[in-house]
Amino acid sequence: MTELMDASADFTASCPLPIGNYPHVLLAHGGGGRLMQQLIDGVFGPAFANPALDERHDGAHLTLGGKGLAFTTDSYVVRPLFFPGGDIGAMAVNGTVNDLAMCGARPRWLSAGFILEEGLPMATLQRVVASMRTAAAAAGVEIVTGDTKVVDKGKGDGLFITTAGLGVIESPGRIGPGQVRLGDVVLLSGDVGRHGMAIMSVREGLEFDSPIESDCAPLVTPVMALLDAGVKVSCLRDLTRGGLVAALNEIADASGLQIDIVESAVPVIEPVRGACEILGFDPLYVANEGRFVAFVSPDTAELALTVLQRTLPDTRPARIGEVVTGRPGLVTLRSAIGATRILDLLSGEQLPRIC
Ligand code: MG
Repeated sequence: MTELMDASADFTASCPLPIGNYPHVLLAHGGGGRLMQQLIDGVFGPAFANPALDERHDGAHLTLGGKGLAFTTDSYVVRPLFFPGGDIGAMAVNGTVNDLAMCGARPRWLSAGFILEEGLPMATLQRVVASMRTAAAAAGVEIVTGDTKVVDKGKGDGLFITTAGLGVIESPGRIGPGQVRLGDVVLLSGDVGRHGMAIMSVREGLEFDSPIESDCAPLVTPVMALLDAGVKVSCLRDLTRGGLVAALNEIADASGLQIDIVESAVPVIEPVRGACEILGFDPLYVANEGRFVAFVSPDTAELALTVLQRTLPDTRPARIGEVVTGRPGLVTLRSAIGATRILDLLSGEQLPRIC
């Protein structure tokens, strides 16, 4: 028995998942798919269980002195460090800002931890830090505390960043997977697949007629606009690793409801669709860094779509489906010819180290 298996023995006693099938961590355990779910269900969840964590949302809802706070953290290991439309610094700020926004919170303060590899050009670090400064200003947050560690050459792959964030909850009601109700309408804030294909094009040296840029962006403005307009928001989730399908599966699973999506309603720009076809990817599974799904009550769905179209004029927000009676935890896709298929989680990510 390995140390990991011994250490996990206490926790797996209450968890039926066969974590022991993988005595070592695989790259796919960080991919946002089935294996990462198993890691959370089998190792982290049982070890740290508490009401805030068990909600399985993008950040923890906390109450302090009568005030609702959202708290979240994320690490960034993307390769390459710079890509069309963004870089690791912008992602490290926007990713944490967006997880706070998904809790219905206005992001306020961030921490930044840097793990630097000996030999990293100082100019590279300065470029990343400048990008973080710009992204923080754009999202209305301050980086108020941080940490730096340096590891030996060859043991850090340049630069890793961990950010944590605190935000103040502004939604009148709770926003999270537990609030999703039968009949809720699913809205998508824009076209999917740009981030994954932007990274892929750099990594593989692919050249397309029109270069694909990452969608990396803060989502505070559209979320606050939904709340200000009085939209009844049940749940929000930003689409990152595992794409639209991973986000929908997580919510279907956590809410115990079925989600039905209309394939033709999901916007995908032509260069992304073309790149996906060439490379054999399904855009619904490809990573994003500036898109989210909103589950809203049917009576405010029309209003919500109008708000998204006003605040995101360039991304083609759309109504893509609804929460239906059916099998708990299932996500289904209806095609143009009326066929229905199940959108299941992949075991890992199509592209490792995408964020
Ligand atoms: Mg998230």
